[in-house]
Amino acid sequence: MERPEIWIEFAPDLHLFVRARYRGGPVAVRTDGTSTLGHVVESLGVPLTEVGGLRVDGEPVPVSRVAGPGARVAVLGVTRPQRPAGPVRFLLDVHLGTLARRLRLLGVDAAYENVDIGDPALAARSAAEQRVLLSRDRGLLRRRELWAGGYVYSHRPADQLRDVLSRFAPPLAPWTRCTACNGTLRAAAKETVQGRIENGTERSYDVFAQCADCGQVYWRGAHHARLDAVVATALAEFGG
Ligand SMILES: [Zn+2]
Repeated sequence: MERPEIWIEFAPDLHLFVRARYRGGPVAVRTDGTSTLGHVVESLGVPLTEVGGLRVDGEPVPVSRVAGPGARVAVLGVTRPQRPAGPVRFLLDVHLGTLARRLRLLGVDAAYENVDIGDPALAARSAAEQRVLLSRDRGLLRRRELWAGGYVYSHRPADQLRDVLSRFAPPLAPWTRCTACNGTLRAAAKETVQGRIENGTERSYDVFAQCADCGQVYWRGAHHARLDAVVATALAEFGG
């Protein structure tokens, strides 16, 4: 079978996924003649969740296209903000617990389980609940079942939060969601939460909220200044 040679070039924001020789201008790649461009791009290391578009000889083409000999292929990064087809909600893998809690603090729907349920189960849940799967695991992002996915570029939670907020632009509603379980908070009268809070807390603080799902009680306590700072920083940049 003929194995046509094509020329392929990756946008700079995709360079971290590919080997050094693919980080300059167009590079000749010999294909098997039947694989789609999506498969070729993935085989060179780039998850399709990070591909914003493909061009062949300057024309937009779908990832299902099979390129012929001499085709000049440009692989583009995603355009920010990238709007999922539906409400913006996420599913985070087991390594992104801090990011999950910060998203919840901002009122963003962020499902997360602190046990590793495995890649097939994560991908299935993404599909069943139409959640954007966030991960730093490229193999996980290549799973076909995913509803949508996003590679998290940094290992630092503050940078991860900026990355996700700038990419998917979820609406922010701070202090409306339980950071422990992702449930929604409702205002709670002091009398109704007695027994669920530490001794002395009820004397010191007046503002209480309770998770409708897990019952966790929230008040303006010792950690509030730090959390306030996370909220203020996010709102200043992404609250509009
Ligand atoms: Zn809760």
